[in-house]
Amino acid sequence: MSGSPRAYDVAILGAGVMGASLAYWLTRLQPGVSVLLIDQDFGFRRASSSLSASSIRQQFSCPVNVQLSSFGISFLRQAGELLATNGHTLDFGLHEGGYLYLAQEHQEDALRRLYEIQRGQGADLGFLDKAALRARFPWLHSEDLAVGCLGLSGEGWFDGPALHQAFLAKAVSQGAHRMQAKVVGLSGPRASNGDLLRCDTVIVEGPSSDSVTAGVVVNAAGPWSATLARLAGLSIPIAARRRTVFVISTPQVVSNCPLVIDPSGFWIRPEGNFFLTGTTPAEDKDDLPLVPAFEELDESQWARLAHRIPALEAMRIERAWAGYYEMNLFDHNALVGPHPQLPGFYCITGFSGHGMQHAAGAGLGLAEWILHGEPRSLDLRPLSVERWVKKAPLNEANVIG
Ligand SMILES: Cc1cc2nc3c(=O)[nH]c(=O)nc-3n(C[C@H](O)[C@H](O)[C@H](O)COP(=O)(O)OP(=O)(O)OC[C@H]3O[C@@H](n4cnc5c(N)ncnc54)[C@H](O)[C@@H]3O)c2cc1C
Repeated sequence: MSGSPRAYDVAILGAGVMGASLAYWLTRLQPGVSVLLIDQDFGFRRASSSLSASSIRQQFSCPVNVQLSSFGISFLRQAGELLATNGHTLDFGLHEGGYLYLAQEHQEDALRRLYEIQRGQGADLGFLDKAALRARFPWLHSEDLAVGCLGLSGEGWFDGPALHQAFLAKAVSQGAHRMQAKVVGLSGPRASNGDLLRCDTVIVEGPSSDSVTAGVVVNAAGPWSATLARLAGLSIPIAARRRTVFVISTPQVVSNCPLVIDPSGFWIRPEGNFFLTGTTPAEDKDDLPLVPAFEELDESQWARLAHRIPALEAMRIERAWAGYYEMNLFDHNALVGPHPQLPGFYCITGFSGHGMQHAAGAGLGLAEWILHGEPRSLDLRPLSVERWVKKAPLNEANVIG
């Protein structure tokens, strides 16, 4: 960068899957719009988008999340062509293996209520009693279970980091610009008391505190988005919460295994010849070092896994990694749209562990919001930042891990 500011229509701060999807949709919906993606690390070594378990489900408690997932699965089914550059079709390894939410007797009514909400939104689900669970999944220990809710289509897993990179490459091929730099300040015209009246200037770390100006500035900084908002004098309830993913194997066969959500709190799904598994940590602090918490797969956790899937009695831990959920501590839902307290400043953050599957729809909705003043294809207004400002939560009950 030279010392003088450069001007863009939209500056997106953070080029993870949210920033990349938004840049893709902006440049697709309005060719010629000038978009700048700023990230401190285009290697994405600590970004959630590189460390995700990349699964997709329709089983949420909030209709807006089911709608985002429904859009997400249709997008994924066509993404190989939609995101192709130079005519090369891409393969995101989408496997619609389903999610299986399990419930014990005291949880049956709650699971049924969620099933009704999700079916009302068009999700393709089956409600299985104990006999059906036993018949369909003979490797599952179901004696202490009452029912399960299974995604029959539209749920499964895919290559999330590849999707992220494809959004980025396609956005750049459509004219988006990239800048590797750390954002250290946000500015704009100020009132006489010093309050920011509008956010239109982004200051990045550099020898002379270089800056760019933009009509719209978007906070897409994932787990670091609260830190970024503070640069503009705003507080948003997003925390970086570490989650460990374990890669395990077993010599025994577990065929047709969906992503299983156990009443004891763990999740597990196949990945090639292996399984991925994780759970909610007992002690869930902010900003823990990004190293796997091996104590989360201790003897008692091992016993819980082997209780539900006896074939895992003989399991072994192959490796593990850790990433941050960009957790919305207010209501476990995303914050998307303009920030009502600062003109020019938008957010797309706080997806609380389910952002990879919602990136396509959230990016489209926010692009429309920026370009047309409202989201059109998907009504994302329930996720608006206003609910945080007004302290009117939209609680999501189905948060995994
Ligand atoms: C272990 C794990 C499992 C998950 N499993 C699933 C799943 O199964 N399904 C699902 O849908 N989702 C899942 N998620 C969630 C999903 O991965 C995230 O919601 C999504 O990747 C968030 O993307 P993002 O772009 O908001 O954040 P990120 O990918 O973290 O990107 C934010 C970017 O902002 C940049 N940045 C931050 N601050 C600055 C600054 N000051 N200056 C410049 N750049 C900055 C960072 O470098 C980073 O690249 C999981 C996440 C984790 C960690």
